[in-house]
Amino acid sequence: MSTMEIPYKTYLGEDELPTHFYNVRADMQTDHAPILHPGTLQPVTVADLEPVFCTELVKQELNTTDRLIPIPEPVRDFYRMYRPSPLIRAYYLERALDTPARIYYKYEGGNTSGSHKLNSAIAQAHYAKEQGLTCLTTETGAGQWGTAMSMACVYFDLDLKVYMVKVSYEQKPYRKTVMQTYGAQVIASPSETTQIGRKMLAEHINPNGSLGTAISEAVEVAVGTEGCRYVLGSVLNQVLIHQSVIGLEAAAAMEKLGEYPDVVIGCAGGGSNLGGLMAPFMADRLAGRRAPRFIAVEPASCPSMTRGRFAYDFCDTGQVTPLAKMYTLGNGFIPSANHAGGLRYHGMSPILSQLYHDGHIDEARAVEQSSVFAAAEQFCRAEGTLPAPESSHAIRAAIDEALAAKESGEEKVILFGLTGNGYYDLLAYQQYNEGTMTDYIPTDEDLERGFATIPSLPGIQ
Ligand SMILES: *Cc1c(COP(=O)(O)O)cnc(C)c1O
Repeated sequence: MSTMEIPYKTYLGEDELPTHFYNVRADMQTDHAPILHPGTLQPVTVADLEPVFCTELVKQELNTTDRLIPIPEPVRDFYRMYRPSPLIRAYYLERALDTPARIYYKYEGGNTSGSHKLNSAIAQAHYAKEQGLTCLTTETGAGQWGTAMSMACVYFDLDLKVYMVKVSYEQKPYRKTVMQTYGAQVIASPSETTQIGRKMLAEHINPNGSLGTAISEAVEVAVGTEGCRYVLGSVLNQVLIHQSVIGLEAAAAMEKLGEYPDVVIGCAGGGSNLGGLMAPFMADRLAGRRAPRFIAVEPASCPSMTRGRFAYDFCDTGQVTPLAKMYTLGNGFIPSANHAGGLRYHGMSPILSQLYHDGHIDEARAVEQSSVFAAAEQFCRAEGTLPAPESSHAIRAAIDEALAAKESGEEKVILFGLTGNGYYDLLAYQQYNEGTMTDYIPTDEDLERGFATIPSLPGIQ
């Protein structure tokens, strides 16, 4: 271990808070394939999506031309509560690894919701308020998104109904308590409050619930309630647009430090934090100004990019949502009960999928849960911050890159996204500490069962 004195390690500028979101689609040579209406199989229009989502968010979803979208002032006001988020040089981890690499992380876990999801939640709540809506609905599995939406809705005085997957509702009661404290109504899904929920309960179909069912319930209520719309915390283009604040701040801070990342690493569930972190660096790469490498890290238990198909699939298990062309394990893929809560989605952002397909995202890497927790342990013991399990996938890859740099003697600059803190996931840490954590990697047969649920659409690639 070197004896270097550790300089002040957190870079927190006042003036990095961006004035505009960045929309990478405006710079992509090849846009992602259009989102298709599930009934007509035609590209969705504003009119198709308006009954479900706020109008402004629908426009963002379909926006391929505006690179920059002004951040509304009320949203910037809210951001000032917790942004700019810190960009931290991982001096202690570098020292522990004895690596010549310089490691930076953008820490999004410092707000009460515990993750980056608040960045999009507050924007979505603002556009709903501006449209004169009074109510929003959503689903939550792991709880971070529901918590973020609860904070956002109470700020703009909107009612919020959160359909929470029943097994999480029962096993993770404190998350429910946080949401209720912020004023949200939390309903265990499947529930008696919707047709689909009543059907699932009556027919005893998956009584523990699933994200797919919770989405179907939340959409049903939004569409059937006056002044109400549905919100989603990942995967969608609009969410990537909002999350660009992560990357824009990181780029501004790094520029002041005279640094530029050689490699940008993010964990990938639905793709929103990675899409946001890499946004300005991808802009540089697409314009040919710089050539940073991008690595998406996913759990080996839910390997949509590394082992999935690039195909049109439904975004939900109930097959009621539009179809997106994306890397997918099939809408019927059931990931093992694994604690990488926020990374268990069957699909992937269509934008990230297209960038990966076209080689602009260099690598997708699948990592096993026990090695992820080993990285989390090493990280928190060195850096002090207890990371979320999802974020720890990115830590695993960052440590591996830093160790490779040590081998080759390269002075590489690594930037990764630390998307959340680990206080919501102490059960997983307990299992890791007690040695009862398991790694489950789906077999090819498991994957085939999921692929069988990808719809075949004659004439559509
Ligand atoms: C939801 C979540 C993720 C994964 O979602 P993305 O849309 O892929 O960013 C990652 N980390 C944390 C802490 C989360 O809550």
